[in-house]
Amino acid sequence: MRFTRYLVPTLREDPSDAVVMSHRLMLRAGLIRKESAGMYLYLPLGFRVLRKITDIVREEMERAGALEFLMPELTSADLWKESGRWEAMGKEMIRIKDRNGLEYALAPTHEEAFTAAVRSIVSSYRDLPLNAYQINTKFRDEIRPRYGVMRSKEFIMKDAYSFDMDEAGLERSYQSMRKAYRNIFSRCGIETIPVEADTGAMGGSASEEFMVASEVGEEVLLLCAACGYKANQERAQYRRSEAAPAGEPEDLRVVDTPNVRTIDDLAVFFNCGADRFLKSIVYLADSTPVMAVVPGDREINEVKLKNALGALEVELAPDAIVEEVTSAPVGFAGPMTKKPVRTIFDLSIRTTRNAITGANEKDKHYAGVKAGRDFIIAQEADITSAVKGDACPQCGAALDERKGIEVGHIFKLGYKYTKSMNLTVLDENGKAVYPIMGCYGIGVNRTMAAVIEQHNDDKGISWPMTVAPFQVHLVGIAKSEDEISAVEEIYGMLSNAGIEVLYDDRKASPGVKFADADLIGMPVRVTVGKSYFKDGEIEVKLRRESEIVRVGKDAFIGHVRGLIEIEWGRIS
Ligand code: ATP
Ligand code: MG
Repeated sequence: MRFTRYLVPTLREDPSDAVVMSHRLMLRAGLIRKESAGMYLYLPLGFRVLRKITDIVREEMERAGALEFLMPELTSADLWKESGRWEAMGKEMIRIKDRNGLEYALAPTHEEAFTAAVRSIVSSYRDLPLNAYQINTKFRDEIRPRYGVMRSKEFIMKDAYSFDMDEAGLERSYQSMRKAYRNIFSRCGIETIPVEADTGAMGGSASEEFMVASEVGEEVLLLCAACGYKANQERAQYRRSEAAPAGEPEDLRVVDTPNVRTIDDLAVFFNCGADRFLKSIVYLADSTPVMAVVPGDREINEVKLKNALGALEVELAPDAIVEEVTSAPVGFAGPMTKKPVRTIFDLSIRTTRNAITGANEKDKHYAGVKAGRDFIIAQEADITSAVKGDACPQCGAALDERKGIEVGHIFKLGYKYTKSMNLTVLDENGKAVYPIMGCYGIGVNRTMAAVIEQHNDDKGISWPMTVAPFQVHLVGIAKSEDEISAVEEIYGMLSNAGIEVLYDDRKASPGVKFADADLIGMPVRVTVGKSYFKDGEIEVKLRRESEIVRVGKDAFIGHVRGLIEIEWGRIS
């Protein structure tokens, strides 16, 4: 491909609104352009990468025996109502009406659509197991689209849905997807960490996310180097130590705390650590007020809280509700409320004593508070986040913390959709039974961004051979007609050898051409210039190395082929 016939609008400057490296480089290398907030178009160079990633995904899915479908993007509201998710999907799902007033969702995911499709096609155990997948667009009205294609409103997902006769079958399907995912990501040249993930209130039994460790990741991972425990912070558990008895047992007493509201202010006022306080936060769980009580030095984990309450949504209650629930201004909440309110305690509260908490009265706190004596623990659950240094739930060693980008997700769904949507098949005895499902997603665009996050330097992208838009970047530095035709000959040789080559045939300075080659990052750079015209030497260089190797015309193609093979082998 000739540069002058292609469209690679590289940018010298960093786009001001791109904060993460992959987003910056995708814009600067001319792979994508912003269409509007959270929406991107792919230029030819970027689309080649996306296609290579999809090819790898497809090959590995086929190898695992999955069958490719193509589903409509407009999914009828009836489907979502059957499963009960028309409401539950909330504002992230984009709903539209046709001219007759029929309602649809622009599919954010396809569990319902695939369950209905299989229901209409499959009737016997003989048709199972079945793993149906597609590579298709998803729409999600994200609260905060950001980081370019990593979190956009429209993106391409590979989504797969397995249907098995029993749990053992589901386990086989799940493990085969797990293996396929490992192959897919390693063939794309990225290292992933599979971590335990949240399964939701109505969720299935097991779920893992494939994470790419990255400083710009939006997920927090808790990892144990001693035993290998790995979990998303949304789900990660930790061992609680028995609360240290704080001195002699105290009696409950009221302390005047004029205008002392925050944990920080209280710590100064009482001259003690934040862990001595019981933080009491009022939430709305599906619109009903709930108080959550945790140690003052801990963060409430809203995913765990939501699951423990069996709620669809939890959000911080507005001040007016807090004041109503606690009969006091904001800042003086505690579990000993005057009016009854549903209260949920973290597991660690059970052993607290000599604690300090709001007295549900303006400018007053209780001190000497003891769980069980001063308030009853009617509901307790793990509702706080594990953090670096906490004890591993499996072995007790200190957990480490890293940030990660979620590129894929595998999930044992169970019977949620087959039961709610009444998908049955006849078993060997002619009895109608519900198949058990799993679902498996990969964000193709986000994977592309993750590849760039892991493969770049200060000059630009350095593509792994397997997903590079072209294998070779040919830079011609020629002036005369003769020199130009000598470069053209090398271009012809590469093309005829079936090597994917981008040929920079522009009338630009060598500096500009090399800078662009480094920015768009093809793994092999070939330069045909002075040393070729003078001494017959072609310069060959790997993007990820600085060494230049000179080869004569006869050995040239063999040499480049060898490099491509080696680079390919490094990855897959
Ligand atoms: P997140 O927690 O990042 O919002 P999710 O849990 O909503 O992800 P899934 O529903 O499991 O994501 O979707 C499967 C995959 O689709 C994710 O692993 C991710 O790679 C990709 N993905 C999800 N949302 C987006 C988005 N808004 N833009 C790009 N890719 C996305
Ligand atoms: Mg999401």
